[in-house]
Amino acid sequence: MNMNQIPNLTLNNGVTMPALGYGVFQTPPEQTIAAVETALRAGYRHIDTAAAYDNERQVGEAIRNSGIDRSEIFVETKIWISDYGYDETLHAFDKSAAKLGVDVIDLLLLHQPLTTAFDKTLAAYRALEELYAQGKVRAIGVSNFMPGDLQSLLATAKVVPAVNQIEAHPYFQQTEVQALDAANGIVTQAWSPIGGITFYRDGDNRSTLEDTTIVAIAAEHGKTPAQVMLRWHLQQGRSAIPKSVTPHRIEENLDVLDFELSDAELGRIDGLETGVRGGPDPATLSLETFGRPIPEA
Ligand code: NDP
Repeated sequence: MNMNQIPNLTLNNGVTMPALGYGVFQTPPEQTIAAVETALRAGYRHIDTAAAYDNERQVGEAIRNSGIDRSEIFVETKIWISDYGYDETLHAFDKSAAKLGVDVIDLLLLHQPLTTAFDKTLAAYRALEELYAQGKVRAIGVSNFMPGDLQSLLATAKVVPAVNQIEAHPYFQQTEVQALDAANGIVTQAWSPIGGITFYRDGDNRSTLEDTTIVAIAAEHGKTPAQVMLRWHLQQGRSAIPKSVTPHRIEENLDVLDFELSDAELGRIDGLETGVRGGPDPATLSLETFGRPIPEA
């Protein structure tokens, strides 16, 4: 497919980012090169990884193997909480950039707020601001920042985050976070955009893919439930970063530009909110429970 068809979002500093990206959380390193190569061949030009995913090196290798000019691929990664602190986060950039094999990272996020050590979170963000001032990152942002975290950050930040990447799918939309993001010119980026966290976890969760409303809307358009959910994000102005290691799904998730959901259909999907978070509550993450060293490059 022609990459020009993927709509761009303009971030609050003027940098453009393809709205639809490709995520690699839980993609094992040994599968990552082939998966990212497949995604780039299919037309994705935006890859979302993280230091904590242990596959930055393979993402970088796939980008180089693709033969696509580095400037045409938007590379996004995240600093893990174990590397928070001013000097630690500056060094974490060096680790990620070296593993990715890039000089400049397009978008660098703080992966989580450390609510029990918010001073460390703020110091890490100051390091992102410094990296931005030095031109080592084209944009900076946050992930899993809830309204209180965002307000605390904005009270001292010199650079407003460009992006807040949060759990967002029909069953858990975080409209309050989205509204605060929008009020501050921050793009909301949906993780688990097709609700992966509702069906790949153990337990008796409802799956967004089998939701009768989504299935019905998909049938009306001759599309799949995943495509309907991705279209819903795009039409509501969000970025979405679906993950798949399955070639036909990698292509399917990009094939969302030839149909339009009506306002009524968007509203029916909005109406599926359950109020139940799939991932961990960001407030419960601490260095004690989730800290682990990120290896040197
Ligand atoms: P997704 O909503 O992207 O769902 C991924 C799951 O859906 C996988 O099991 C995949 O299977 C399956 N799948 C993909 N496409 C289809 C399709 N068309 N039809 C049916 N099944 C499909 O969830 P993720 O949690 O993976 O989130 C996406 C990305 O968001 C991550 O890769 C990561 O980049 C980011 N993320 C960020 C987090 C954060 O804290 N900031 C937390 C979680 C994710 P298969 O691969 O086998 O095809």
